Amino acid sequence: MTDLQIAKTISLKHISEIAKKFGIHPDQIEMYGKYKAKLPLRAINKESVKKSNLILVSAISPTPAGEGKTTMSIGLSEALNRLNKKTTVVLREPSLGPVFGIKGGATGGGFSQVLPMEDINLHFTGDFAAIEKAHNLLAAIIDNNIQSNTNSLRLDPRTISWKRVVDLNDRALRRVIVGLGGTTSGVPRESGFDITAASEIMAILCLAENLMGLKTRLGNIFVGYTYDKTPIYAKDLKAQGAMTALLKEAIKPNLVQTIEGNPTIIHGGPFANIAQGTNTVIGTLMGMSHSEYTVTEAGFGFDLGAEKFFDIKCQSAGLKPKAVVLTTTIRALKYHGGTDLKSLTIPNLDALDKGLPNLEKHLENISKFNVLPVVAINKFTSDSDEEIQLIKDFAQSKGVKVAVADVWAKGGEGAIELAQLVIDIANSKTSNFKPLYDWNLDVKSKIETIATEIYGAEHVDYTSKAKAHLKKIAALGLEHLPVCIAKTQKSLSDNPKLLGRPKDFIITVREIEIAAGAGFLIPITGDIMRMPGLPAHPASEGIDINEDGEITGLF
Ligand code: ADP
Ligand code: MG
Repeated sequence: MTDLQIAKTISLKHISEIAKKFGIHPDQIEMYGKYKAKLPLRAINKESVKKSNLILVSAISPTPAGEGKTTMSIGLSEALNRLNKKTTVVLREPSLGPVFGIKGGATGGGFSQVLPMEDINLHFTGDFAAIEKAHNLLAAIIDNNIQSNTNSLRLDPRTISWKRVVDLNDRALRRVIVGLGGTTSGVPRESGFDITAASEIMAILCLAENLMGLKTRLGNIFVGYTYDKTPIYAKDLKAQGAMTALLKEAIKPNLVQTIEGNPTIIHGGPFANIAQGTNTVIGTLMGMSHSEYTVTEAGFGFDLGAEKFFDIKCQSAGLKPKAVVLTTTIRALKYHGGTDLKSLTIPNLDALDKGLPNLEKHLENISKFNVLPVVAINKFTSDSDEEIQLIKDFAQSKGVKVAVADVWAKGGEGAIELAQLVIDIANSKTSNFKPLYDWNLDVKSKIETIATEIYGAEHVDYTSKAKAHLKKIAALGLEHLPVCIAKTQKSLSDNPKLLGRPKDFIITVREIEIAAGAGFLIPITGDIMRMPGLPAHPASEGIDINEDGEITGLF
């Protein structure tokens, strides 16, 4: 059965039932049909947050298909609920880029899914559309100001870094010239489109703690310079009020349900290679306000999403995670051990053994944050018993707890052992989270700490452009911001071809973008796409709908 077929066999509970189970009176929610609702921000309770156990699900360096963090997060939360620990899984909203591209949606898989999967994967409650509009409103205001004779800030069009966004993989829009068509149609300038998941507004929404905090951050977006080199921010264009108004619903977390009828929060969806890669702070706080355990996911491997989760999100919101579940697959480890993508289902102990150093490095990295890990082997039908035993032996030799989790085939029942280990760690109170670096270090030291400690680099090189950007950041007084390094997810290094545990490599920072509103700097390494392209045969080719409105081909 496909994920969508499994999803269709489940009879969903009304969302007011789910709200009750979550601990919110149905009158308090805003329903989007029968199975989706927005939760009110006043339902966040800081005292309850302090008592909730936050569990982060991360992964080893993934293959392009993903190693199952979302599926694992859902299965683990079902298992914790089965063990009578009130648990909420808090996840990101899917972007239409991957839905129609290679990877597919982001609602889990098999018997560990969140529902209704068609809705969540397509438009959902409109948050992405609102983010897109708020982003493009600022772009329209910028071009209008350049056009204006009476309201001009004298913005130098060549310095404007703010582009437009659309939530699709559309490579033809990467670079565009806007303002063509004569004096009534704007001033021509070079610009481009990013995917909405890479918008700074997405990053801002995901770090904001309330509506006024959102407005302040939106006002702080850096736009560019005037001809006499004065920096211009969104607030100089009086854009933040209208942008915040557009986001008044998007800021509220979305409530849905798992296959086993447990409350789920899905809110915000930044990518982890170019942004911070985790759902909203508000969504996490909402989950923690109403549950004993809150399970959440950070994108791609531990080196990307989890580092940013700890150093940016947890620092900014004062969160202290209790454990990291490191999703590990036999197929990814074999890939790191040299097996090509087509042969990953064939048992190969030798390749698996060669791939283990990737797991080892991620485990070392977790310990740098003073949080205890559990290795969760995400079971695939092609895994052999010998292969599973090899990983178990390896984890145990490192003194790390390990469990096989068959969440894809069995839902919560497949993760009881894992859930018990997570509870043991939370109860032992041995994790005492500390961030990797102090935000007050200078920018280069922050980048170098992450590159050497987490990626395992020898040292960091800066292009002349990146050096110029360091000066610009200093001049703008933004050196105190944390860094959100843009890097490939395929390797611990910035070179996607270096698999396993690369050593003696150099990280090259090509440029450093400023996300003053979100409150971080983005050092860019390697070729990172803020606007992905579709493959020759996109997933969209397999998606269809019949006259009854039934969708097929989503995964
Ligand atoms: P991630 O969140 O790490 O990117 P997902 O949980 O979205 O990964 O899983 C990626 C894809 O792999 C999904 O289509 C999911 O259904 C599938 N998948 C995950 N775990 C398994 C498994 N154990 N067996 C088969 N398919 C799986
Ligand atoms: Mg995921």
